[in-house]
Amino acid sequence: MSARFTVLTGGVGGAKLVDGLYRILPQNSLTAIVNTGDDFRHFGQPISPDIDTLLYTLSGKSNQALGWGREGETWNFMAALKSLGGEDWFNLGDGDLALHVLRGMALSAGEPLSGIIARFAEAWDLQLSILPMTDDAVATWVETDEGLLPFQRYFVERQCAPKVQAVRFEGAAEAVPAPGVVAAIMDCDTVLVAPSNPWLSVDPLLAIPQIRKALESTKAPVIAVSPLVEGKAVKGPTAKLMDELGLEVTNHSIAAHYGNLLDGLVVHNKDEAPQSVAIARTDTLMKSPKDRERVARTVLALAAECRR
Ligand code: GDP
Repeated sequence: MSARFTVLTGGVGGAKLVDGLYRILPQNSLTAIVNTGDDFRHFGQPISPDIDTLLYTLSGKSNQALGWGREGETWNFMAALKSLGGEDWFNLGDGDLALHVLRGMALSAGEPLSGIIARFAEAWDLQLSILPMTDDAVATWVETDEGLLPFQRYFVERQCAPKVQAVRFEGAAEAVPAPGVVAAIMDCDTVLVAPSNPWLSVDPLLAIPQIRKALESTKAPVIAVSPLVEGKAVKGPTAKLMDELGLEVTNHSIAAHYGNLLDGLVVHNKDEAPQSVAIARTDTLMKSPKDRERVARTVLALAAECRR
């Protein structure tokens, strides 16, 4: 049987590695298991930011300038909404809205999220499996110096300004992995962890007991790409959050966070690296498709080394 690869991912940072892997691996050999802790309802519509980012990125529809959402987006819905006094802290483009409306209708008709996402991926001719971590409701909450905030209020409305004290994943302990998730971890040759925020984007997956157990027991090596480049996060609150949680902003802390789940870590060029896991080095800053492919090749080579 041909080799199978499974990648655990969040949104924007993670999608870059998934895109690199998707470009270099044979069709239909990749499964992405995606964080849904950021999912929420807005104007009655269910929104899955990380899954949607992946769908847009892999189908070549992502908005490069904004760094989120769809290319060529129009904003008539938001303008009309604002003129009527609607809340405008979370932007929904007209094209983006189509996805949320269709998802909302299908969920109301009883279809699970995993089935809906598989249909969307098929409609856009994507040759990989995109699986939500669970079809159950899991919600990320951030305990901050301004009180307990739902994830999107912290991340988008407050722009990650509040100081984080802890992160909780409501519903994760009871959540069952979506169909195919456990098999994708157990039966693959390599598990990859994208350079997504370990505390906000990867931890929701690890908080689901059956996913953690599968990662602990799979024979496949588990290899992560560090989200840190020269001791800083490329984007978003990773470094700020590590600091607020009392952690050193180092690859050592990233490896320690994943603990005995992790076999290898890809770090940026000459950045410091922990001794507890196998290490590979490359320029991990993924600006172009070529960069994404380079990081994907490096992570796969490290996995091959760890399998020997
Ligand atoms: P979100 O869910 O959209 O916030 O995105 P993720 O959690 O998937 O990704 C955020 C993380 O990706 C941040 O910690 C960034 O440092 C990291 N990141 C973004 N772009 C890159 C990149 O090009 N290289 C590396 N190594 N990390 C990146």
